[in-house]
Amino acid sequence: MIESQLKRRGIRDERVLVAMNATPREEFVPIDARVLAYQDAPVGIGYGQTISQPYMTALMAQCLELKGDEKVLEVGAGCGYAAAILGALAREVITVEIVPELVAKARDNLKRTGRDQNVRVIQGDGGHGYLPEAPYDGISVAAAAPEVPSALLEQLRDPGVLTLPVGSRDDQELRVIIKRDGRIHTRVATLCRFVPLRGGEGWN
Ligand code: SAH
Repeated sequence: MIESQLKRRGIRDERVLVAMNATPREEFVPIDARVLAYQDAPVGIGYGQTISQPYMTALMAQCLELKGDEKVLEVGAGCGYAAAILGALAREVITVEIVPELVAKARDNLKRTGRDQNVRVIQGDGGHGYLPEAPYDGISVAAAAPEVPSALLEQLRDPGVLTLPVGSRDDQELRVIIKRDGRIHTRVATLCRFVPLRGGEGWN
């Protein structure tokens, strides 16, 4: 996975590669899907949701340019895998998940793999961010939105980086939004297809 899926496609951040290498992805997929844990694609985790393709998790983490002392917000914990990766790269991670069963699953997976020390799973609509812990040095959204949710931009520190898929239900671009000196810069990292964001900032 590290060589053929990540390095070959341009993941260069050594800390990201180390974190991906040190995190047992098979512990975050359902037991009957373990043989698929390292395939180059998303895997179903129930409730109509997926664990993202490894490359996408690595790319999103790389886009945040974490050095180790950041507080990070993730929207859409799913099974908790990306949160575990972010936890290995930052000081503290808050991850918000809207499906109660997945909140429990993510907490369980993080605890079992010993990654629950600096990662907290909150149940709620992460489209509104998580105000009690704001501002965040980095925000990573794992579900597609029609527009950039304004609460997320507001809860992003200056300087800070927000990465999220924006577009239609079927096709999106992964945007990297950098807030610096009171200004917003946006670039597109790749085209992508994520599960749709639910709740108030999603499609009705
Ligand atoms: N981060 C995961 C990917 C999970 S898929 C990984 O490690 O691979 C996206 C997740 O976002 C799903 O679990 C879905 O339930 C959740 N989600 C969708 N809309 C949400 C919302 N408004 N707030 C919080 N979580 C949401």
